[in-house]
Amino acid sequence: MEQSRALPTEVDLSRPSAARVYDYFLGGAHNFEIDRQLAEQIAAMTPNLADTMRAGRAFLRRAVAELTRLGVDQFLDIGSGIPTVGNVHEVAQAINPEARIVYVDIDPVAVAHSRSILEDNPRTAVVQADVRDPAYIIAEAKKTGLVDFSRPVGVLLAGVVHFVPDDDDPERLMAVLRDAVAPGSYLVISHSTYEDQPQEMLDAQKLSARTATEITLRSKAAVTAFFGDWELLEPGVVHMPLWRPDSPDDVDDNPARFGAFGGVGRKPT
Ligand code: SAM
Repeated sequence: MEQSRALPTEVDLSRPSAARVYDYFLGGAHNFEIDRQLAEQIAAMTPNLADTMRAGRAFLRRAVAELTRLGVDQFLDIGSGIPTVGNVHEVAQAINPEARIVYVDIDPVAVAHSRSILEDNPRTAVVQADVRDPAYIIAEAKKTGLVDFSRPVGVLLAGVVHFVPDDDDPERLMAVLRDAVAPGSYLVISHSTYEDQPQEMLDAQKLSARTATEITLRSKAAVTAFFGDWELLEPGVVHMPLWRPDSPDDVDDNPARFGAFGGVGRKPT
């Protein structure tokens, strides 16, 4: 995809964008030369990274399928990204066609493409917002009429909280989200880590500083703390492939190489 007049006006083409770099790694078409250059540079340093991103999508798919089977029929997907194969609405609505999803992303390309592919899906909506403003996200999600906050909601934060630096107080924003939802709601988090990582992976993460959204790697303890006092579903916060794999083949010989933890928590009733 190259610059065209159809693009949303706020697209910044002077810097790579995390959403477009991610799209490139997943084989999507919604990226620009500046994104591809950064992606290739990161890929040359860490050949594992495309696998990491696919493992992240696979974790999200398994978590959404599990929550839908547990009866969750409304989702708030924050940092949803540029639509790609196996989107949350596809996974959830394949199990429950009535499931409703509000997608939220800060990136104008992600938002514009999400809107265009979801035009014909009345049980989805797209909001452009910053995860650092959770009160605004909740208010906008309410306005869509798709999420009833008096009932359990699946709040998805897949690969997004690591874009919130410590200075922006991620603990506070997580607390606001946890407080806004009804008992019986679930929180799905995946988050990059420095634990058990080779130095080249850590060096590649530093390149994210060139995007508008730099990554902050965190420990397992810090990721676990984002769930507050919620009950963690088995097996807890683990390297992503270890979270309820569909088959033993899903579990890599070295699940730590994916460089991110995943977990699902439930708000006590
Ligand atoms: N959740 C998807 C998944 O797991 O496949 C996409 C993850 S992608 C690595 C991260 C997404 O978070 C990007 O689309 C990026 O635009 C979005 N993002 C980064 N910072 C954000 C912020 N402050 N508020 C909302 N979204 C943000």
